[in-house]
Amino acid sequence: MPGLATVLIGDDPASRVYVRSKSRACAAAGIASFEFTKPPDARLSDILSLVEALNRDERVDGILVQLPLPSGLDTRCVIAALDPGKDVDGFHPVNIGRLWGGETSLVPCTPQGCMILLRHVLPDIAGATAVVVGRSHIVGRPLAALLVAADCTVTLVHSKTRDPAAICRHADILIAAIGRPQAIGDGWIKPGAIVIDVGINRVAEPDGTAHLVGDVDFGAASRIAAAVTPVPGGVGPMTIACLLRNTVLAACRRRGLPEPLAPIQ
Ligand code: NDP
Repeated sequence: MPGLATVLIGDDPASRVYVRSKSRACAAAGIASFEFTKPPDARLSDILSLVEALNRDERVDGILVQLPLPSGLDTRCVIAALDPGKDVDGFHPVNIGRLWGGETSLVPCTPQGCMILLRHVLPDIAGATAVVVGRSHIVGRPLAALLVAADCTVTLVHSKTRDPAAICRHADILIAAIGRPQAIGDGWIKPGAIVIDVGINRVAEPDGTAHLVGDVDFGAASRIAAAVTPVPGGVGPMTIACLLRNTVLAACRRRGLPEPLAPIQ
């Protein structure tokens, strides 16, 4: 049975929810999950010792260190300590290099989920103009690598971009990952575009309740675009599915078994 170890450091409520939902998904898919927690004031040396033990643990095929880490901990140092073959988030520098080099790697889960969604509605994306709004290491940049590999013409928009709406209006494929509630609306979307909304933003209501919205104004996008993903329920579940996918791939590779899943293109 493939095995996934999750490492949760600190007491961030959202991180706790994410880790729990990942463990539940593992159970449903027949993947063993091992949960490890550390207090918010954990020392870097303790975390590195845990990672090294998990690297050696034969039951563990994938290791997920839930981000963000508490402030003061060096995220790069923790990620670099992972065995790249068990790095099911695809954040290790070796896997990032392989991704940009077009080699077999463990591909970051959210970008992988976006590509699967995209291929579902648009099997042939070669030559399409793709704009990714947001250039984070976990979403925007790896997604740009996948889109380049898929022969799209790719632009990365970020907080310093001049007139981002004008750039987005040219996009056949528009992917939003900025963490700004419903920032992308009417004037940003080309008629007939495919819009993928990665953003997950908690918006408070005057009565004290809260609800989740994406980075895209879903109503506007529904009127203008050919297809748009909802929030919640669009990219989020794909991210978890791709984590399970990476765990199975890592397990097969570690055991020298043929890979049962086609590569993401
Ligand atoms: P980060 O905060 O790490 O990065 C945000 C990026 O957006 C940065 O590159 C920033 O630019 C850019 N940005 C911010 N504001 C603007 C703006 N007004 N115009 C253009 N670019 C802007 O965020 P993440 O990538 O981690 O997450 C983005 C969103 O996706 C969040 O809502 C997060 O919750 C969600 N998310 C969802 C996942 C899922 O499974 N559905 C998984 C991961 C994230 P600059 O680099 O210049 O600062």
